[in-house]
Amino acid sequence: MSRVAMTPRKLTVLSLAALAACWPLLPDFTVSVMASIALYAIVAAGLVLMTGIAGMTSFGQAAFVGLGAYASAWLCTSPHIAAVWPPALPPTLLPWLGLLLGLAVTLGVAWVLGAATLRLSGHYLPLCTIAWGLSLYFLFGNLEFLGGHTGIGGLPPLTIMGLSLASPRALGVLAWVVLMLALWALANLLDSREGRAIRALKSSRVMAESMGIDTARQRIRVFVLAALLASVSGWLYAHMQRFVNPTPFSLNIGIEYLFMAVVGGSGHLWGALLGSALITLLKEQLQDLLPRLLGASGNFEVVAFGLLMLIVLQRFPQGLWPSLARGGQRLLSPFMSLAGDAGASGASGAARTSGAAGEALARRDAEINPINPPAPLLPTSPPLPADSREPLLDAREMTRQFGGLIANDKVSLSLHAGEIHALIGPNGAGKSTFFNLISGVDRPDDGQLVLMGQAMAGKPAREFARLGLGRSFQHVKLLAARPVLENIALGAYRSGHAGWLRAMLRLDRHEEAATLTRARWQLARCGLQAHAEDAAGELSLGQQRIVEIARALAGEPRVLLLDEPAAGLRHLEKRALATLLHQLRAEGLGILVVEHDMDFVMTIADRVTVLNFGAVIASGTPAQIQQDPAVLDAYLGGVLDE
Ligand code: ADP
Ligand code: MG
Repeated sequence: MSRVAMTPRKLTVLSLAALAACWPLLPDFTVSVMASIALYAIVAAGLVLMTGIAGMTSFGQAAFVGLGAYASAWLCTSPHIAAVWPPALPPTLLPWLGLLLGLAVTLGVAWVLGAATLRLSGHYLPLCTIAWGLSLYFLFGNLEFLGGHTGIGGLPPLTIMGLSLASPRALGVLAWVVLMLALWALANLLDSREGRAIRALKSSRVMAESMGIDTARQRIRVFVLAALLASVSGWLYAHMQRFVNPTPFSLNIGIEYLFMAVVGGSGHLWGALLGSALITLLKEQLQDLLPRLLGASGNFEVVAFGLLMLIVLQRFPQGLWPSLARGGQRLLSPFMSLAGDAGASGASGAARTSGAAGEALARRDAEINPINPPAPLLPTSPPLPADSREPLLDAREMTRQFGGLIANDKVSLSLHAGEIHALIGPNGAGKSTFFNLISGVDRPDDGQLVLMGQAMAGKPAREFARLGLGRSFQHVKLLAARPVLENIALGAYRSGHAGWLRAMLRLDRHEEAATLTRARWQLARCGLQAHAEDAAGELSLGQQRIVEIARALAGEPRVLLLDEPAAGLRHLEKRALATLLHQLRAEGLGILVVEHDMDFVMTIADRVTVLNFGAVIASGTPAQIQQDPAVLDAYLGGVLDE
């Protein structure tokens, strides 16, 4: 690019540089407000990840801030520690040990609380966070060694390489550095394999498990990470105030943290900073103004925040950040480069590859050949059973009852490599129920399922995925707000290795580029390459079904289960889908399709099994099925002839 262009990332760096340059000149009061904003934003950033992105609401985050603060306060002031402290070690190490202690305690407490409460769904989880938020708060106030309600005073300042951070001006710098590092690491995390898995938690846990993601473990990790960020903020806070008492860690403040995350933009990391700034500044004003207006003292600002949150959520369901970012973009558009560096839109733009990497990918995109796949990252599925005449999937007498209704009545069906098997039947015949049984989403009441030669009784859906089963859903389950390409890369979750730490430090770029290249290839092969960067939810329903197929293919399955893939497709699109399915069959996949469009079924299928009222009434070649009196009867005659 020839001219010097302003990108959101450059804008962020420039703003931070300006803040740094002004920092020594700002009045003390402004500095301490700015430092508080950074401390709040560190906590809110964790909440954005946990609540906005992973879909777990917590009112209790202030308690984790308290754990970080109290751990260091206790360690730095306890006479017991002072008594055993080796004289050879400088006492300036104490606060740093306090940080480690705080992190360790928070890790333990968050893990136990998470394991106990994250299984709860719906409103029970937020209620539980209130319960433990309150409990920890009362614990802080009632433990003798933590100073009871008076708290602990006389904390030493932090020192870094001999430099004392006693003033808020000095500590504020550290707070902002920690905040920026946290935002950077979280944005990196969200722009990775694990980040896609985290986003899938909110969208649909059933879908996430079918992609091979251990959702229970993923939820606990998100919860613990958010708690650790809160704990670091508490540690900084304690050494800025040099004093702790229980008040800043109460449920009230926990609710304020949630306001910050939600008002700023629950799905956007930068929204954490926006929300913290807004709420902190408003609180400053309202704490004086409201009691004067109302002629009584009290924490009326909490009521004002509640109203504010209602209004914001009504008018801006995504929080204020997306609108602000859009407004800023419009204002700056004359200066902005079109290179599409999405840095400043934080998480929202993180999926898009930036700068040089983006151009490299675009180049590679042009080279993508829909016929020849790029080299696989790793062989993802275990080898086929030794005897390839063995079916890939063998369901024997599968039965599933819902109350008195027998949705599947001893259904047997097998699927071989290089075969397209269609499962048809009138509405309510039990096709989707059967799909759920053979993909591990639901458990049969009776019957046996063998996948790739392994008995699957009692195994979770992600184990089915591991053995090479990919599926689409009758009711499309995509990350609607995310780009199509990201949705497809989610399907390749199991083929990656990079964990959370690597992703946060951006050490996963090589693997990530390979994953995206393969995702692009799957997309091209399914004919949707033009939509790679579009939000999945903006596509037509028919196209979204194709995206689901591409996502399943990204997992390199041996067995593909497609629930009504042709619904909503136009004639030419159906032809393209039939061609794709034939190509996949030629590659040796076993494909089981539920489909209503009989023309489509009869042209693609090698074998057809017909369900009616939960039971198999016929099975054979399309020609046999079209002549079968029981089938014609079930379809009230004639439908099959069209
Ligand atoms: P199909 O996919 O062939 O249209 P389904 O498998 O969705 O049929 O449904 C088969 C029968 O089982 C229907 O009568 C449906 O109402 C019932 N059913 C499906 N899922 C459930 C469920 N989770 N709870 C109760 N009944 C269900
Ligand atoms: Mg169905």
